[in-house]
Formats: sequence, C-alpha cells, structure tokens
Amino acid sequence: MQKPYNFFSGPAVLPEEVLVQAADAIRNFAGTRLSILEISHRSKAFVAVMNEARSLVKKLLQLQQDKEVLFLQGGASQQFLMVPYNLLSPSQTAAYFDTGQWSHKAIAEAQNFGNVEVIASSKDANYAYIPKQWIVNEQLLRKTYAYVHFTTNNTIFGTQWSSNLVDTLLSQAQAPVVADMSSDIFSRQLDFDRMALIYAGAQKNMGPAGTTLVVINKGVLTKKDSFIPTVLNYAKQIEAESMLNTPSVYAVYVSLLTLKWIEAQGLGSIEKQNNEKAQLLYKTIDDSTVFSGTVAVEDRSQMNVCFKTADAETDAQFLAFAEANDLQGLAGYRTVGGFRASIYNAMPLAGVQKLVACMKQFESQYK
Ligand code: PMP
Repeated sequence: MQKPYNFFSGPAVLPEEVLVQAADAIRNFAGTRLSILEISHRSKAFVAVMNEARSLVKKLLQLQQDKEVLFLQGGASQQFLMVPYNLLSPSQTAAYFDTGQWSHKAIAEAQNFGNVEVIASSKDANYAYIPKQWIVNEQLLRKTYAYVHFTTNNTIFGTQWSSNLVDTLLSQAQAPVVADMSSDIFSRQLDFDRMALIYAGAQKNMGPAGTTLVVINKGVLTKKDSFIPTVLNYAKQIEAESMLNTPSVYAVYVSLLTLKWIEAQGLGSIEKQNNEKAQLLYKTIDDSTVFSGTVAVEDRSQMNVCFKTADAETDAQFLAFAEANDLQGLAGYRTVGGFRASIYNAMPLAGVQKLVACMKQFESQYK
C-alpha cells in the first residue's frame, strides 16, 4: 500500500518504523505476550517505559539534574491553565507574548489567576510576524514578573521564534521563562536548560495525541497559601512521577519509540534535515509566480509552512490537485485559508520534494 504524504498539522506524521513497533506492541508488548493496551500502568514493563521516556527527554534536551519531566493529560490547552495555577498568585503579574491563537488562549486562561501584561503582540498584522520591539525595552528586565511566557512556534500562522531570538529572550528575561513548544519540540537545538518550564502536546513532533510533555525546574514552584487541585498540581505530579492517576499508557509508549528514533539520528542532524526541507519549500514559494508566502521572511516557521495563491478559487484548485497527487492535509487553518504544509521531523525530504514538484506542475498548467 502506497501511503500518501501527510502534511496535517497535528496529530501528524510519525516515522514508519515507529508505527510498525507501535502496531506490534498492540499484540505483544515487550515480550509480555500481553497488549500494551491491556497492561497495568503499575506493571514493571510500563514503569520502565515511563522511566526511559523521562530520561531520554533529559538527554535529548541536555537538561541538568534539577529538571523534572512529566507526561500529563489534558493537552497543551490544560497547560495554559496549569502554568498560572501553579506559578501565578493574584497579586502577581505574568508577562506574555501574543504571537498567535494559541498564545492568545494561554493569555485568556492566565487572566483568571492573576495580572497579565502582554509585552508584545503581532495581532495588528494577523500574527504574520514575531514582535521584536521588546529587545530594546527595559520591561523585560524587571524581576517582578512571576514568569515570561512565549510560544516558540505558531502552528496556525506559520511563524517561529528563530534560535537567535530565543537566545536573546533567554538572556534578557530576569523572570523564569515558560515556553509552549507544542509544535517544534525536538526539532532543533536550543538552550533548553535555561527555560524554567517547557510544555508540548505530543501529537506533532513526539507521538500521538493523548499525552503532554512538561519539563519543569522545581525551583519555580514557590506559590504558597493557595489551593491547587491535585491532578493540576505540578509538585504532586512530580512526587507521583506522572502517575497520580492512570497515565496515557499507549501515547507515552509511542512517544518513547519516537524519542528513540530522534536519539538514533541526533537532534543536530534532525535540525539540519528540517532546515533543508523548509529551505526547499520556501525557495519554491519565493521563485513562484502563483504561490506566495504569508508571513515575514525572517520569522518563517521550519515546521508549518504557510502560503497561498491570489484567490480562494485557485487555492481550491491546487488543493484538489495536491490531493489527487496523494498529498494530504495541506489546507490552511479554517480561519486563515490558503495552505499549510506541516513538515515535522517525520516528514521525509521526499515528501517535500513531491510537494514542490506538484506546485511546479500546477504552476506550469496554470499559466
Ligand atoms: N499550543 C500550540 C502551539 C499548538 O499548536 C496547539 C495545538 N495545535 C496547542 C497549544 C493546543 O494543544 P492541545 O490540542 O494539545 O490542547
């Protein structure tokens, strides 16, 4: 069976060998002759999976010992509220960058817990760039923020904080930095150890939907005198090693398989391949007379490449043409339109090459 190339934004493409191992484990998990779907999360075999997944995250992100790794439920959206629940008191202020729909939602949740200062926003241009005016703004140096929150990659709009910009933020911010890395975790090397808290839904670059990675520096958990419901309490989740209640056993297992696949290549090599794929696609867009990019060139995402034609009718024609050529999931987000090619780690270069060939063929017919 020839598989279509899968450009969906999430849940998204997984490596073929991960799918094969994941399928095998449904019948016979780790030689137990039981299915991964029917074993206890307290069994030795699954506790080993959880432990290995946690230590692999630490290894891949080059984290020091003081970092804790959790695999929680509720998606990244639950982290929008867990972060302020655990880190923000009513008398405090948290700083947020508003760079897209997901950061906007994170801001809305935080406003229920304390004061929120939006220190920079690109809403004025429908989130087509990453704001930079804060670089010369003294505000960020204020230590009084409970934390500074940013979204490293904006899945819907196709913008991404460049590695240099992330470095600038990490060196300027005096408060703990919290990063939503849902759509670019494990896609590139960054100074992860300097981030106080990282969260990411698994379903783009780490595994299937159903588990959310949280990396946290315990030192930021200083909020006192306030009730935090048990499953939403980071300190209690850390104490229970992500097993306060039944974790998403299968999602954690498939994430472990993907983490091993990433480890075998190395994050440096993955980053190089991601650059190559993104450059090929952006060059095709830039050279085209039919397609054009939708965001500021210096802020283009390496993960979600957004582009469009001149009108909705031509967009629909290309989408049908792409689908007929076995390229799936290219429609832009429902409120944005155009196209979005999500080219996460597991998208092979051949998939991008096929998309590029298809764009060129469409363009020659269109003229
Ligand atoms: N943050 C980002 C950057 C996302 O892309 C998404 C989902 N696409 C979310 C948060 C929300 O994730 P979830 O669906 O796991 O709640």
